Amino acid sequence: MRYVSTRGQAPVRDFSGVLLAGLAEDGGLYVPQSWPVLSAAEWRALRGLSYDELAARLLLPFVGDAIPFATLRAICGEAYAGFGHPAVVPLLQLDTGLWVQELFHGPTLAFKDMAMQVLGRLFDHVLEAAGRRVTIVGATSGDTGSAAIAACAGRARVDVVILHPEGRTSEVQRRQMTTVAAPNISNIAVAGTFDDCQDLVKAMFADAPFRAELRLSAVNSINWARVAAQVPYYAAAALALGAPEREVAFSVPTGNFGNVLAAWVARRMGLPIGRLIVGANRNDILARFLADNDMSLRGVEASLSPSMDIQVSSNFERLLFELLDRDAAATHAAMAGFRATGRLAVPEPAWRQATALFTGFRLDDAGTLAEIRRLHGATGYAADPHSAIGIAAARAHPVAGMPTVAVATAHPAKFPDAMERAIGLRPPLPARLADLYQRPERYTRAPNDLAAIEALVRATVQRNAA
Ligand SMILES: *Cc1c(COP(=O)(O)O)cnc(C)c1O
Repeated sequence: MRYVSTRGQAPVRDFSGVLLAGLAEDGGLYVPQSWPVLSAAEWRALRGLSYDELAARLLLPFVGDAIPFATLRAICGEAYAGFGHPAVVPLLQLDTGLWVQELFHGPTLAFKDMAMQVLGRLFDHVLEAAGRRVTIVGATSGDTGSAAIAACAGRARVDVVILHPEGRTSEVQRRQMTTVAAPNISNIAVAGTFDDCQDLVKAMFADAPFRAELRLSAVNSINWARVAAQVPYYAAAALALGAPEREVAFSVPTGNFGNVLAAWVARRMGLPIGRLIVGANRNDILARFLADNDMSLRGVEASLSPSMDIQVSSNFERLLFELLDRDAAATHAAMAGFRATGRLAVPEPAWRQATALFTGFRLDDAGTLAEIRRLHGATGYAADPHSAIGIAAARAHPVAGMPTVAVATAHPAKFPDAMERAIGLRPPLPARLADLYQRPERYTRAPNDLAAIEALVRATVQRNAA
């Protein structure tokens, strides 16, 4: 399998190449040159497999001949072995026609572990084979950073530097990053928002000499391998609920558009997904886009669902590329216009095509707390603020005759303050994280300034190389 950039000006690469490259050199995102499609019989043959087996089989078409299947199978086996539920991604029924799929049983209690646990091991394998090291830099609004750190701590061939917006992640999220003592892990608390952190990471990648000197690599959701590793749980849920014979809808609490894009990819591969509901908090650029074709930037506001406090949803570019019939020049121009004007111009037919599948939904903090309370009262189920937005979105947009799966993206114990406000309870951390509040923290504070951040990254890598 070969990969091309959405902006058409970067080298074509294989799976290992895009894994290590992250963002393409032209600022675009890598996508497969063509989409693998499974027949109904092939989907049927995947029913009833263990999750790690399913994951390996669905990753294989994207990996191509870059990694042998036996290795891929072993990587998936190890990646999900440490999860806190034997089904890995359990499906629970909440109401008539409504299910929740829990994606938070990994080491850091958020869905980012689903892909990151695979990614850390893929990096090890590919770098070992190539005899190379890389520096992974990433921006996080909370969950990506902790998942990357959990997946890479102590690995021989990677240094990891994670930028988080100071004071804008929950304490559990921060501690999951800053209490990891491995020498190859560094945390930088930036005086700014998540978008500032993301811009700093993009700027480091755009600084060609710096990028080459430090052999930069990314594991945030722009990395194609992460999207690919998020496809299997959509298949697991849909197959359990009757696919390929029956269409299924998914509701996805969305920030960077990586998770819901993986659902789109599953559909592109032939899984019968009839509707995708995109849940947003008050940072509602995607909901505005789907309602009115209004993709315009507004300032980021902190909410109870910090992993969705995002204005630029980077992965949207991959969908845009498809909506524009894979016209890289048009995608490039649209993204350049977005940068310049703060407004993404999507042609009317492309927007119509998007709204035929995607529905937007927005819920503010008061609504989120009310939904957590309502759901807990009705079913006893405690959903974290992100998951509650997805569940509310699914309830607001039922599709007649189609089962809807709301994906639960974080464990409620990650957001104890919000849970206490909603239901008067602080959900306990699972036993494996019970001493999190006692572990010492380690991080560096920095201004929102590229030169300062680059100096810190360089110092970290030199220290570890010495
Ligand atoms: C990252 C995250 C999201 C948003 O996912 P995207 O792939 O960025 O759209 C939602 N909920 C939680 C808990 C997350 O960690």
